[in-house]
Amino acid sequence: MNEKVHELINQQINKEFYSAYLYLDFSNYFKANGLDGFANWYMVQAQEERDHAILFYTYLQNQNVPVTLEAISKPDKVFENHLDVLKAGLEHEKYVTSLINGIYGAAYDVRDFRTMQFLDWFVKEQGEEESNACDLISKMELFGSDPKSLYMLNQELAARVYTAPSLVL
Ligand code: MG
Repeated sequence: MNEKVHELINQQINKEFYSAYLYLDFSNYFKANGLDGFANWYMVQAQEERDHAILFYTYLQNQNVPVTLEAISKPDKVFENHLDVLKAGLEHEKYVTSLINGIYGAAYDVRDFRTMQFLDWFVKEQGEEESNACDLISKMELFGSDPKSLYMLNQELAARVYTAPSLVL
């Protein structure tokens, strides 16, 4: 594997674990603020991010290149209100999209078609992540100021259940 592609994928393992850690922090924020449904939604999100990390990890192992696990950064954002959390989620997903695109670009430059094919799933996944984050912001902006509506939105998010990723390596 090309050295640059290898380095970027190895870094992505860490970025995905950080994403899981960040969403655990979001889940913790909502739990502390009495919104169990939102807490559940971000707990499921955290589980998905851990899965993403394992997919990158397994991909490197399957290519017989070394995996190096680095320290995971501390989530240190302080939120003024519920909407702030959701907006931070969208910003983070846009950042992750830029990282995936960066790896894709590096693989493209060296005609690493196998890595490009592996990354196709993540390209699609990032579209869904950004779309989900936008939907949550829209709903919170529309309904968040009305307690009854916020209660119902919280109930809706409580129904999200974890499913394993559709990509299997
Ligand atoms: Mg991810």
